[in-house]
Amino acid sequence: MICPAEKCTGCFACVNICPKNCIQMKEDHFGYVYPEVDQDLCIHCNLCDKVCPSNHPIQANQPMNAYASWVLDQEQRELSTSGGLATLVSKFIIENRGIVFGAAYQDKEIQHIRIDDVKDLDKIRGSKYVHSYLKFAYREIKNYLKQDKKVLFIGTPCQVAGLKSFLGKEESNLYTIDIVCHGVPSQKLLKEELKDFEPYDKVLFRDQNGFNLTVFNKGVIIKSIPSYKSLYYQAFLDSLTYRENCYTCPYANSQRLGDLTLGDFWGLGDLKSEKKDEDKGISLVLVNTEKGTTLLHSVDSKLFLEERSINEAIAGNSQLRHSSKVHKNRDVFLGQYLKIGYRGALEEALEYNSVKNRLKRIISSNSLLMGLIKRIKNS
Ligand SMILES: Cc1cc2nc3c(=O)[nH]c(=O)nc-3n(C[C@H](O)[C@H](O)[C@H](O)COP(=O)(O)OP(=O)(O)OC[C@H]3O[C@@H](n4cnc5c(N)ncnc54)[C@H](O)[C@@H]3O)c2cc1C
Repeated sequence: MICPAEKCTGCFACVNICPKNCIQMKEDHFGYVYPEVDQDLCIHCNLCDKVCPSNHPIQANQPMNAYASWVLDQEQRELSTSGGLATLVSKFIIENRGIVFGAAYQDKEIQHIRIDDVKDLDKIRGSKYVHSYLKFAYREIKNYLKQDKKVLFIGTPCQVAGLKSFLGKEESNLYTIDIVCHGVPSQKLLKEELKDFEPYDKVLFRDQNGFNLTVFNKGVIIKSIPSYKSLYYQAFLDSLTYRENCYTCPYANSQRLGDLTLGDFWGLGDLKSEKKDEDKGISLVLVNTEKGTTLLHSVDSKLFLEERSINEAIAGNSQLRHSSKVHKNRDVFLGQYLKIGYRGALEEALEYNSVKNRLKRIISSNSLLMGLIKRIKNS
């Protein structure tokens, strides 16, 4: 191993740096990917060891400002997971002849892809609550920077760390946004959840109605499962199925790696300037560098933006204080997955059929129904 397995974030920096292309990401039994070095091709240059951010930590920054924010364009706000800033900033970069890298569902995988046309922004919009594969994105980014292109990279903090470590120096044309993250399950687990709905070409994790796992094919919805009925989603929300390293994530704190940090503004108090609109997403924006200030102010005419205290932001969002705590039944899940497979293992570990959890589901489905009736009455 290049770093201890329990520290490996699966950032792909080692894969990208290897001059012999002899490192590949391989799935373990649960689908978590780890680098495997082909010893016959390896020339022992140790670049993989040197580039690994888990071996050589990257300098992070203390946020300078915190804002509650959302995009003023209502349609854009509703289409996005939170306040829609990721898409707005991406659009700005592309309109200024730059390139954006973000996570998309492509070739039956969630992977980071390059976007250079605003028509493709939908592909990277929205949180995908699963590990996104970087493939050779860092190499591509380096090439664009060499050509003096502006590049925006949006990803989890560990992926921003991987990119910075790969580049090895400050790049004036590189802009980074790290998203507040509480952990990523493996793609294999998501595939198991969705195997009855194949073929599909897009998965949404949140929509206007909240946390729903929605599967599309050619623009048509195949299935939409509310989070409380989806084993995958329950396991994600309960911190049962993340990569091992997510439980000791060194980036889950208030020191940030991106020029900007985006998350949901949990625990937001009363706004001074406008009544907050609870139904729609409110983003937390942390500005961590001068470049972040420039980037945010390039789009601020299209935003609701109210400065808040950094302490309020940190107090409301546990991922800015500590990493996710391991679920009490994680060992049950891992052990049973090998014996009885995906559904059985999750049902057992989540205690899915206990009286308490059955009741919770009945209450959740009724509150959704009540919400729907209220909306119809009000319309
Ligand atoms: C795995 C994961 C866990 C998260 N956990 C939290 C949390 O605990 N607390 C919190 O406040 N916010 C969390 N978020 C962030 C939140 O869901 C929103 O993404 C964020 O607030 C930005 O919202 P937005 O409307 O501006 O952009 P969105 O429209 O949501 O776009 C998000 C951007 O993130 C990128 N992205 C999407 N999925 C992934 C992925 N799997 N890996 C890397 N990059 C991705 C996309 O390229 C896109 O540009 C999480 C996001 C992810 C992907």
